[in-house]
Amino acid sequence: SSVSTKLVIGNWKMHGGLRSNEVLLNALVDGMKSMPPGLKVGVCVPFPYLAQANALLAGSRVEWGVQDLSSHHEGAYTGEVSAVMAADFGTRYAIVGHSERREYHREGAILVAEKAERALEAGLTPIVCVGETAEEREYAFTERVLSAQLSAVLDRLSVEQAASMVLAYEPVWAIGSGTSAGVDDVRDVHAFLRGQLAAKGEAVGRIPVLYGGSLKPENAAALFAVPNVDGGLVGGASLSADKFLPICEAGA
Ligand code: PEP
Repeated sequence: SSVSTKLVIGNWKMHGGLRSNEVLLNALVDGMKSMPPGLKVGVCVPFPYLAQANALLAGSRVEWGVQDLSSHHEGAYTGEVSAVMAADFGTRYAIVGHSERREYHREGAILVAEKAERALEAGLTPIVCVGETAEEREYAFTERVLSAQLSAVLDRLSVEQAASMVLAYEPVWAIGSGTSAGVDDVRDVHAFLRGQLAAKGEAVGRIPVLYGGSLKPENAAALFAVPNVDGGLVGGASLSADKFLPICEAGA
């Protein structure tokens, strides 16, 4: 375990069901009872399960969130879900700019920034995801890509808003691959991101920066010990309490 306690967020993606969720959420609530104070844990569930998360997690140490949001306030936007609607169900977090949204739904940097802004206006904490592809990394474009993704968000938000967000570094090539980025890469990238944030002021420089990409019980402690890593965003391993709780524990 490391010096400071971490923020660990599960991203269920398009997985789950009422029955299996109940088992998992109850196990997380139970497991968190014995975790040291300070450790913060959340799960980002598909929209239909927000009411269930609210019912089962309210009053526990497990917070919940959504995996995306509309960039609009309200109106004729068929199929969209607003930040205010999510907030109605006790939601704390909203992932925005996940690489799967950027890639499969063509979400651009400005749209992601608007979503972060909607989240903050509704009192949610946006978890802004940035990350380079394998090809971008190969051509040494990593910092350029991350800087463009992050600055679109920082340029749109006020300093006060930016100080309330969470940043997640998720190298696209590590997501779902079974192999996380190495600690040396993570150290360099997180130091770079910390510098970009600090340029927006002291308060923004202190926001949590999470690592995401094939986090698992076997590698969580090493990654959480890297300077400027304030926790993790966990995909696949957040679907079972047997894997997610040990990752959370590594952040305690
Ligand atoms: C993610 O997609 O946010 C993620 C971190 O996925 P995984 O842990 O499955 O690599």
